[in-house]
Amino acid sequence: MNKEEIDLHASLKKYFGFSKFKGLQESVIKSLVAGDNTFVIMPTGGGKSLCYQLPALIQDGTAIIVSPLIALMKNQVDAIRAVSQHDGVAHVLNSSLNKTEIKQVKEDIKNGVTKLLYVAPESLTKEENVQFLRSVTVSFMAVDEAHCISEWGHDFRPEYRNLRHIIKRIGDNIPIIGLTATATPKVQEDILKSLDITDANTFKASFNRPNLYYEVRPKTKNVDSDIIRFVKQNEGKSGIIYCLSRKRVEELAQVLQVNGIKAVPYHAGLDAKTRVRHQDMFLMEDVDVVVATIAFGMGIDKPDVRFVIHHDIPKSIESYYQETGRAGRDGGEGHCLAFYAYKDIEKLEKFMSGKPVAEQEIGHALLQEVVAFAESSLSRRKFILHYFGEEFDTETGEGGDMDDNVRYPKKQHEAQDDVVVLLETVAHTNDKYKSKDLVHVITGKSNALIASHRTDTLPFFGVGQDKDKRYWMALIRQVLVAGLLKKDIETYGVLRLTEAGRNYLKQPESFMMSEDHVFDIATDESIITAAKGEGGVADERLMTMLKDLRKRNAKKLGVPPFVIFQDP
Ligand code: ADP
Ligand code: MG
Repeated sequence: MNKEEIDLHASLKKYFGFSKFKGLQESVIKSLVAGDNTFVIMPTGGGKSLCYQLPALIQDGTAIIVSPLIALMKNQVDAIRAVSQHDGVAHVLNSSLNKTEIKQVKEDIKNGVTKLLYVAPESLTKEENVQFLRSVTVSFMAVDEAHCISEWGHDFRPEYRNLRHIIKRIGDNIPIIGLTATATPKVQEDILKSLDITDANTFKASFNRPNLYYEVRPKTKNVDSDIIRFVKQNEGKSGIIYCLSRKRVEELAQVLQVNGIKAVPYHAGLDAKTRVRHQDMFLMEDVDVVVATIAFGMGIDKPDVRFVIHHDIPKSIESYYQETGRAGRDGGEGHCLAFYAYKDIEKLEKFMSGKPVAEQEIGHALLQEVVAFAESSLSRRKFILHYFGEEFDTETGEGGDMDDNVRYPKKQHEAQDDVVVLLETVAHTNDKYKSKDLVHVITGKSNALIASHRTDTLPFFGVGQDKDKRYWMALIRQVLVAGLLKKDIETYGVLRLTEAGRNYLKQPESFMMSEDHVFDIATDESIITAAKGEGGVADERLMTMLKDLRKRNAKKLGVPPFVIFQDP
């Protein structure tokens, strides 16, 4: 080790008590300390905070940390203060401070005491803050959760859009470090462009979580029973169940309680006290299960969550990855079980219908990926990692057999000829179409767009009409994942041949297509299964509880659906 490395290790020990850097941390820190723009893509829990905290502590001046999560900022500030001798070493600057406190913060910064200043993007837009920060020494700017800058991310924040402009005003040559756990190529590109750091040194860690087991099951009207059965088979283990709506959260939590499972609801509609109480009950293991909307999880660090169930499929693969990522943080078992029905996708599409067109298009494209994932017969892990721009080999990669599709392969058949038809059609229609239109051409259905390209499409119009639309959509999804086609990033959806696709056309080879599950079974939205219904012989006590619950909730929820389930 050279002197610089020794110093970094000494500081790591001194400030954080760790004796080793995790993953790419050391290279990231060296890049930032050298004054280079830096871009860090690491999964949640990868140790991103330290990538800016350590450089901030060992450099002159104050590092400005932009983060959207006020609660998390506070935790970080407390942690850093605890290991330093001086409270002034880290501050939060936001609207909750009174005049005296603001004065103190500014004094600490001017005196060079403050090494880290956490700000929400809104506070940075305040002119007085910009003026003040212009007048002090800034070591670098860190933009945490940088995906918030992109409409393609799962958590777009309009205020992030202004950051580049503000950073330029604070100082012209301030190094910038952007950090995110969301790493689709599109979001990456957006971050680099929006922050104007296309010259950044990029550090990307693998997103593989080898200890997580992925499973997708068709969602039927028995979904509640399915969930209860799963939870009972995993008795005593901690788990999170995600639902889309608050109402469903309430209902499902009650269904679980009635069935003797220790569960609490969590959503943003509950008052703060209840939320904290339920969260603590989960952390302290007074309950096993939290039924929650996505409001639950940000910054929750329970290392031994053993399962994450999606009662409703999320609206993007990123969300799915983030939410399932809360399982098995300690490296132990983590079962990720998602229930999927195409109906739910249509519901999500309906939610988007009021939004601006551009936003809708993005939303649809993201949903399309979710459909592809859920219906796919390919390795789940390979699919997710492919989505994040990472190659994964199920034979040699860690966790390669940890999903339903790999363990219990679906039937396959030779589809070489169909792949050729598909690729030829893309080639001869000059990469014009998104999946849907392409399938129209192949199955011989026209629309305005297709009609306008008559001469190009003519030879291929209807070449594949012996198979139906769903077959071709499934094949496209599998060919995409196999890398023979790709979706154009700019238009997000137009299919193009890849180099591998062109080679395939020159020399076609075997292509085993997995047959998809049927996922368009209707789900009974209200799931009103009578207590004595399928699988459930309710006992006296449960019936009384049920009646009582119904009475109490009739007003709040309408008549809530209940399933009383007992394994025979
Ligand atoms: P991220 O922001 O990437 O989700 P965090 O910065 O919150 O991750 O870090 C996740 C956890 O990893 C924290 O508990 C942190 O203390 C721990 N950690 C970070 N760096 C190291 C290290 N070098 N050695 C051991 N633990 C580390
Ligand atoms: Mg973080």
